[in-house]
Amino acid sequence: MCGIIGYIGDRKACDVIVSGLKRLEYRGYDSVGVVTENGGTLHIRKGAGKIGELEKKLGLSELPGTRGIGHTRWATHGIPDDTNAHPHTDCTGRIALVHNGIIENYLELKEELLKRGHIFKSDTDTEVIAHLIEEELKTAANFEEALRRALNRLKGSFALGIIYSGDGEHLYFVRNESPLVLGIGKGEMFAASDVPAFLPYTNRAVFIDDGEYVILSKEGYIVKDFRTGEVREKDVHTIEWSLKMAEKQGYPHFMLKEIHEQPKAVKEAIYGNAEGIADIAEEIAGYDKIFIVAMGTSYHAAIAGKYLFQRLARKVPVVEEASEFRYEAEGLLDENTLVIAITQSGETADTLAAIKLAKRNGAKTLSIVNVVGSMATRISDLVLYTHAGPEIGVAATKTYTTQLTVLAMLAIALARHLGTADEQLLNALEKRLYELPDLIAEALKHEENLKELAEALRDRKDFFYIGRGISVATALEGALKLKEISYIHAEGLSAGELKHGPLALIEDSVPVVAVAPSGRTFDKIVSNIEEAKARKGFIISLGDNDELMKISDVFIRMPEVDELLSPILYVVPLQLLAYHLAVLRGNDPDKPRNLAKSVTVE
Ligand code: GLU
Repeated sequence: MCGIIGYIGDRKACDVIVSGLKRLEYRGYDSVGVVTENGGTLHIRKGAGKIGELEKKLGLSELPGTRGIGHTRWATHGIPDDTNAHPHTDCTGRIALVHNGIIENYLELKEELLKRGHIFKSDTDTEVIAHLIEEELKTAANFEEALRRALNRLKGSFALGIIYSGDGEHLYFVRNESPLVLGIGKGEMFAASDVPAFLPYTNRAVFIDDGEYVILSKEGYIVKDFRTGEVREKDVHTIEWSLKMAEKQGYPHFMLKEIHEQPKAVKEAIYGNAEGIADIAEEIAGYDKIFIVAMGTSYHAAIAGKYLFQRLARKVPVVEEASEFRYEAEGLLDENTLVIAITQSGETADTLAAIKLAKRNGAKTLSIVNVVGSMATRISDLVLYTHAGPEIGVAATKTYTTQLTVLAMLAIALARHLGTADEQLLNALEKRLYELPDLIAEALKHEENLKELAEALRDRKDFFYIGRGISVATALEGALKLKEISYIHAEGLSAGELKHGPLALIEDSVPVVAVAPSGRTFDKIVSNIEEAKARKGFIISLGDNDELMKISDVFIRMPEVDELLSPILYVVPLQLLAYHLAVLRGNDPDKPRNLAKSVTVE
C-alpha cells in the first residue's frame, strides 16, 4: 500500500510531485522518495519519515527537471529506512522505479539476478523489478520490450512508476492488482494511485486496468496489455470531486472534517441512490443464498446489513470477512448465489479477490463502493455508490455511515419488492431516513461533552463496547475506531456475550460503552449494563430512554430513531470520542501508526 505520483510536462516536476504526495499520504507514510530527470541524469532523493518532515530536509523541491515520479511508502518487505525507501534503481542507475504492492516471487527472481552478478542495495521486493528490466534490456530491442518481458515474469500485485534515463520523452506506468489512474492535462500528463493527487491540475481521468501498462508523454498516453502487447482503448472520465473536497477546510484533521461532513454525505447517499435502488433490488430479489463480504469498517457495515436484510427482507445473508471468504467459499458458490461486496476504495485486495472468486463461479456480484471507476465497480455485475466524496482520514467515518445508508435503502427496497414487510413500516422508515442528516447534525452537538469525557478517560487502558441486535455493529465499529487511532485496547461485542467471558475483565472504573437505542432488546441491554455496573464498570450509555440515565455514569442522549436506522446515528459520538482521545494522547488521527487507508495488499 503506498502512493505513487508521476508528472511529465513543462512544470517543475518536483513541485507537482511534492504536492501530490501530500494528498496521497493517507495511503502510506513511513518513507518518501522522488526521482526527476534532467539532461539525461536521474536525480533521486529519498528517506524514512513523512513528507512534511522530509520535504525540506531532503530538498525535494530543488530537484531539476520536468518529468519525475514520487512515492510514499507503507513497508511490506524491509523495514522503513532510508535505503528501503523508493525509488529503487538497477545496477547502472539508469532505471528508477516506485512500486505499490507485493512481488510474490521476488526471492526466486532475486536469487537468479544475484547469480547473474546484480548487486542489491535494499531489502525490498521492489528492487528486483529494476534489476530484472536491466537484465532484459541487455537483449531487448528497446526499453518497452525489456519492460514487457520483465512484467511477464512478476507474480503478485504491482502498480509501478518507472523512469529510464536513456529515454528522455516518456514515463512508464503499470497496473496489476494495485490502483493506477492517469490525469489528462493539456501538454502535460499525470499518473497516480488516486485522483486527489492530481486534482489541482485536471479532473479528466483514465482508469488503468489490471495487466496494462502506460507509456506517458507530455502530449498523451498509450495503454497496452503487457501480456499480448495489444493497444487498449480507454475512456476518459470527468471527476466531479472538487479540490476543496479533498482539503481540510480549517479543520485540524481530515478525520474531524469527515465526521462533520456526515449529514451532507448521508444526504448525498440517499439522493444519489433514491432513483436506482428499486431496480437493483428487483435484480437481486430472487437470490436466497447471499454472502456479504468486506473488511474492517466495511465489515461492520456488512453486519448491520445482515440485520437489515433479516428483519425487512426475510433473507439471511452470510457475513464474512473477504480475507476468509476468498479461501473458504470455493465450492459453495453458483449462479444462484449473490455476493455483495462492500469496499470504500473499491481496491481492497481481499475484497477484490472475493468478487473475482464469486464471478469465476457464476455468482451474481453487487458492490457497494465509494470511489467511482475503481476496480470493484468495474468487475461487479451491479454497483451502488455511497457518494461520500473523498475520504482522506485513515479511519473510516463518513464512508461507514453512507454504506449503512445504502444498505438500509437496499433492504427497504427489497422488502417492498418482495412484500416481506408492512408497507406502513417501510414508509415510516423511509421518512425517517430522509430525516437522518438532521439527526446526525444534532448528534454532532455532543462534541464538547465527548471531549470532556475523553479528557477524563485519556489514561484508561481497556474499553468495552456492547450492543445488541443491529447495535452489535455499532459496538464493534466504536471499538475499532478507538483502537486504530487512540491505540487503546478496546473490545466490541454483543452484550449477551458479556457473561460468557469478558465480564471477568470488568473491574473498578473500566469504561463500558453501551449502545442502547430503544427497540426489541432494550430491556436486555439494560440488564447487561447492570451486570457491568455491579462489577464497578464505568458506564457510558448512548440512547433515547431516560432509564439509562439512572444506571449510567455518563449518559449521551441521542435523538429518537428507529432501531434499524440507529447505527447510522449512534456511531457518530463514538467516532468523536475516539478522535478526541487520539488527539489528547498526542496521536495523529489521520495517520495512525502501522495502518494505511486502502489495503491493496493481501
Ligand atoms: N512492497 C514494497 C515495499 O515494501 C511496496 C510497498 C508499498 O506498496 O508501499 O517497499
